[in-house]
Amino acid sequence: MTYLTTKLTSAQTIELQNASLPETIEDGHVRLKLATASLCGTDLHYFKHFSNAGFKLQNPVTLGHEACAYVVDANGSDLQTGQLVALNPIMNCGQCGACKRGEVNLCTAKKFPGSATTVPHLDGFFREQFDHPVAQCRPVAKEINPNHLTFAEPLACALHALNKGGVSKGDKVLITGCGPMGLLAIAGAAARGANVTCSDIRQEAADVGVKAGAQNALVVGQFDECDIDRQFDVVIEASGAIPAFNMALRAIRQKGTVSILSNIQLSKAEVALHLIMLKEIVVVGSFQFNQEFEEAVKLIESGKIDFDTLTAATYQLSNAADALELMASGGANGKILLQP
Ligand SMILES: [Zn+2]
Ligand SMILES: [Zn+2]
Repeated sequence: MTYLTTKLTSAQTIELQNASLPETIEDGHVRLKLATASLCGTDLHYFKHFSNAGFKLQNPVTLGHEACAYVVDANGSDLQTGQLVALNPIMNCGQCGACKRGEVNLCTAKKFPGSATTVPHLDGFFREQFDHPVAQCRPVAKEINPNHLTFAEPLACALHALNKGGVSKGDKVLITGCGPMGLLAIAGAAARGANVTCSDIRQEAADVGVKAGAQNALVVGQFDECDIDRQFDVVIEASGAIPAFNMALRAIRQKGTVSILSNIQLSKAEVALHLIMLKEIVVVGSFQFNQEFEEAVKLIESGKIDFDTLTAATYQLSNAADALELMASGGANGKILLQP
């Protein structure tokens, strides 16, 4: 039986292909059919440049690492046929120092679908069918909407950034950037009972930030930065823009934490380093997630977050290229979903 797959063959070129899975499923894996997938900034970088963060793709690849799926063949595991599962894309080695410390996000030998991490590249989830390790499949209750469950991976990334920043109830939190990651950080922080302010350079994006749970929204250029000086306990940088990072260093209080969630591309820039010294600011990076995947699935199951407000558009899998073009245009406020 063949299934439809999308292949990125060169920059800005997605080919639709028919493929077939091997007859036997690898031990410890289950066979799945896609329920819903979603687009990430990483997918966009690969689509635009055939590379991301300096890693060039060596061969055509199916993009996608955010998805949920139905079990087609449980391959002797405890899962039931038809079961909806959230997919954790991090396939760590379990052997290295980072793995032994429980820091699977920093595993030096991990496999990650739809990326240049390993050669030949492991295909991602933008296809109708695939096999995935059963340990990386988290079953959920029947009533969970797949269009919400696909947020598990990006929400886990956002929660990791909140955890690195130490965000808890009552904290004054600024989230710079109201793209999909910023919106999830806003929703996650609001669900924890933090007092959230968001900022963006676009009014429409900041408005969605309020819908996501921010109590205040700032539009860059329309307020006096003096007014936010030292006003926040934690800042989550989710824009990837250096000026936003400098604003974060200003807005954070003495001894506060700035947590970097955005995929800041390698660049030379002037950063207000003196503020880090003067205010004893803690600056932490946040890369992927660990136990936050489970935390994210539980938060989705709780129904506390309105994922429909965080969704910009839904496309058919066969129109993945159009979906990526929309994301590239910057015209979407929120996540873009793909359905088979
Ligand atoms: Zn992602
Ligand atoms: Zn490892």
